[in-house]
Amino acid sequence: MRIRVHVSTVLLLAGWLVAAGVSVLAAAPPDASRGAGPAGATPGVGGTPAGGKEAKGRADVVLHGGPVYTVDAVRSWAEAVAIKGDRIVYVGGSKGAAAWIGPKTKVVDLGGRMLLPAFQDAHIHPISSGVSVSASCALYDLTTKEQYTKKVAEYAAAHPASAWIRGDGWLLPAFAPTGIPDKRVLDAVMPNRPVYLESKDGHSAWVNSKALEIAGITRSTPDPAGGRIDRDPKTGEAVGGLQDSAMSLVAEKIPPYTVEERRNGLRHALKMLARYGITSFQDASVSQDDLEVYRALDAGGELTARVVASLWWERKEGLEQIPGFLAQRRTFTRGNLRATTIKIMQDGVLEAQTAALLKPYVGKGDQKGLAMVEPELLKQAVTALDKEGFQVHFHAIGDAAIRQCLDAVEAARRTNGARDARHHIAHIQLFDPADIPRFRALGVVANFQPLWAFADDYITELTLPFLDADRQRWIYPIGSLLRSGAVIAFGSDWSVSSANPLEELEVAVTRMGPNGETTTPYLPDERIDLRDALAAFTLDAAYVNHQEDRTGSIEVGKLADIVVLDRNLFAIPPGQISDTKVVLTLFGGKPIFGDFTLQAPAAPAAAAAAGR
Ligand SMILES: [Zn+2]
Repeated sequence: MRIRVHVSTVLLLAGWLVAAGVSVLAAAPPDASRGAGPAGATPGVGGTPAGGKEAKGRADVVLHGGPVYTVDAVRSWAEAVAIKGDRIVYVGGSKGAAAWIGPKTKVVDLGGRMLLPAFQDAHIHPISSGVSVSASCALYDLTTKEQYTKKVAEYAAAHPASAWIRGDGWLLPAFAPTGIPDKRVLDAVMPNRPVYLESKDGHSAWVNSKALEIAGITRSTPDPAGGRIDRDPKTGEAVGGLQDSAMSLVAEKIPPYTVEERRNGLRHALKMLARYGITSFQDASVSQDDLEVYRALDAGGELTARVVASLWWERKEGLEQIPGFLAQRRTFTRGNLRATTIKIMQDGVLEAQTAALLKPYVGKGDQKGLAMVEPELLKQAVTALDKEGFQVHFHAIGDAAIRQCLDAVEAARRTNGARDARHHIAHIQLFDPADIPRFRALGVVANFQPLWAFADDYITELTLPFLDADRQRWIYPIGSLLRSGAVIAFGSDWSVSSANPLEELEVAVTRMGPNGETTTPYLPDERIDLRDALAAFTLDAAYVNHQEDRTGSIEVGKLADIVVLDRNLFAIPPGQISDTKVVLTLFGGKPIFGDFTLQAPAAPAAAAAAGR
């Protein structure tokens, strides 16, 4: 098999180079670091102890009996890793690791389990999702209107003191073919208490008549900029669906979560992420309150992840909000938190026809979706943020929105020159193929959520019918972006979809549902191989988080952020990737999930927000 050959060849090569005192990295072919960004002073695989000879025999932990997949520049394999403090001090053969074993060293036999760098999620919402799973009416595991209303009624009965019933996680296909929810369904079970339920993708709200009444939404209420009140076409009356910015008409009437509820939400999320082998992430949208929550947990030693926080660009405002971002960056960049990124949301979603398109949606007149930030202002904003050294994290789904974001980065480059900003565009669902090479050319990272790249109902029922045939080819073109030489990073967008990287990896490789939902690869040319998919969840996600110099691969001198899986992903059929379990997650050398017995703890009964 290809992989076996690869393993032994590289091990031999690595062994020879180590014996010869040569860094493997130095031997990397020039194209080997493609996708890994500038290699800089990345430490290599090596047998030379970081602390010199005196450090030998004093590793805290030695894990041996590989396979160890390093994700270094040449994607080499090893058999053993030694950890001292929070750092990796040795990577290589099991024999060489013996020198690191002293009387106090914890020696762990991997027994054929796979060791690799811990995963990094490049786009996730841990606090808002954690709090909605732990402190509201969670609808995630349900799929029909009947199930939703039953759950709402049960939740309301169990929380008689809650003035509002709020929840999350309903699916648009429950209201097929339009995806627009119906207030009457909720009114039937909850006529007197207001109900506000966000869809799983976070772009729509389903409300009852009481909620509309409290928000004062009537026939004469205009649609807000960047949003839509769904209405009866004859009467103009609101039917119970609110899209994008219209959601806040009701949401702002709901009392906010308490500080303690929010902290517990983050604790819930961190526990789940540790279980999935994730030790770093980029929070795709934070408020000042969220920054306080991160700081509180970090101060208490509870923040078991390296976090890049994306500060929210308020689209009703302009460049005057930048001084506030500078102050937040100064105040909150410490410990395991960096407030160094700005999130700009440029459109909505295809399923609700709010994604910004170059040509109109089929059958929708001249409707082309919503560009949220006016393109000239977007250029000014990105140029100013780039100049201040911020990274910009865009949300763009439609081909017009993607182009506007790229144009804005191009404008910033023209003014500021090329900087090491690593701006990235998340979601990137529908492309005009002319824009694909621009990612590499402009140094923009393609931030995909690969779990969405199979032909589920969202695509077959709510997306494809509204697109011309020639445009249907360019949905989530992960393979094309990779072949263009762009850096690809992966993220989950939890709780929009599961935060389990192993499910996402499987879809990136197969373009089929991770749990057998579909059995035909969707746009098979856009599949990528496991090697590239793993890089997008480790070293290249570290690149977008500006920390590939210290995380993202198993190399001497890097932080010991490590995951051990119950099987070797390269030795199983791709359809089994999502069945693989994490048995140990190390964060700076310390277990945050599992322990050194490598016996996987049983998963909790309700893994919230699994699937799409
Ligand atoms: Zn998101």
